[in-house]
Amino acid sequence: MNVLVTGGAGYIGSVCTEELLNAGHAVTVYDNLTEGHRSAVDSRARFILGRPEVEGDLLKAVREAQPEAILHFAASALVGESMANPGKYFQNNVVNGLALLNAAVAAGVRKFVFSSTCATYGPPEKVPMTEELPQRPINPYGESKLMFERMLHWYHEIHGLEFVAFRYFNAAGASEQFGEHHRTETHLIPNVLKVPLGQAKQCEIYGTDYPTPDGTCIRDYIHVVDLAQAHILALAPGKQGFYNLGNGDGYSVRQVIQTCEQVTGCRIPAVEKPRRPGDPPRLVASAEKAMRELGWKPKFPRLQEMVATAWAWHRKHPQGYPD
Ligand code: UDP
Repeated sequence: MNVLVTGGAGYIGSVCTEELLNAGHAVTVYDNLTEGHRSAVDSRARFILGRPEVEGDLLKAVREAQPEAILHFAASALVGESMANPGKYFQNNVVNGLALLNAAVAAGVRKFVFSSTCATYGPPEKVPMTEELPQRPINPYGESKLMFERMLHWYHEIHGLEFVAFRYFNAAGASEQFGEHHRTETHLIPNVLKVPLGQAKQCEIYGTDYPTPDGTCIRDYIHVVDLAQAHILALAPGKQGFYNLGNGDGYSVRQVIQTCEQVTGCRIPAVEKPRRPGDPPRLVASAEKAMRELGWKPKFPRLQEMVATAWAWHRKHPQGYPD
């Protein structure tokens, strides 16, 4: 298929672009490079430098690329930042997202695949979390993604736009070529790996008084290559709806640090800090629906493998991407 990937210069988008190309699809990447890196775009893809805030820019890009499907990764995606600057999240994730949706409809795009998040649920009533749990986000990031999900629902009902929205749990790991490099790193695994890389003396634990066995937050980590594979399956005609993507295993912050110690063979000192606003204590997926309906099966379900591939990438690229 001919596919437009927004955010294809970012962490998940870059790996997905690579996997799409490996599977024989033709890819145009649209990215404004505020978070992404030009050198994270697979050289086989066509690249459009996006200016989504400029009226008509998204429509022009969609008309130029003439995609059969759009995979929409581009977003602001930090819980903590959204608690300080909600406007940025509603502008980028909702307003710019709406312009993209309208462009998709105007250009007759058949399929839309959206990067949603487990943050749309808020603290769950039960784990593992299934798709029909109530969605009550506790931060503007999750709220902005939920608003886009609702728009997708109505664009499907009214315009017949077929969509798959994936509610990601915590992406981790790397492919051989592409990995995680945020200019300001806030994510757990890359921050912990800074210690064995010699770039930090210690890592930080945000909150040790959560109602979990060791007092730290529990998350469900999923390998970025497995996430990418789910997107490829979603392109099949007739696939439609909301799907969780996770492994069904929860790891606490302390368990993640221990795994990083095992993989790297380094001791990693940690300092205990207060809770980070907006963090739910425990998020663990049930991805049964994606397995059943899309035929998705994670190849790298173990945290060890995710940390090992992340570590291999960071060792090869200690400063991340050059741009
Ligand atoms: N976290 C932490 N120290 C860090 C970064 C994150 O303790 O340096 C915690 C954070 O509070 C959350 C979990 O690790 O409970 C995962 O955070 P991350 O930012 O990686 O992903 P999120 O779940 O927010 O999408």
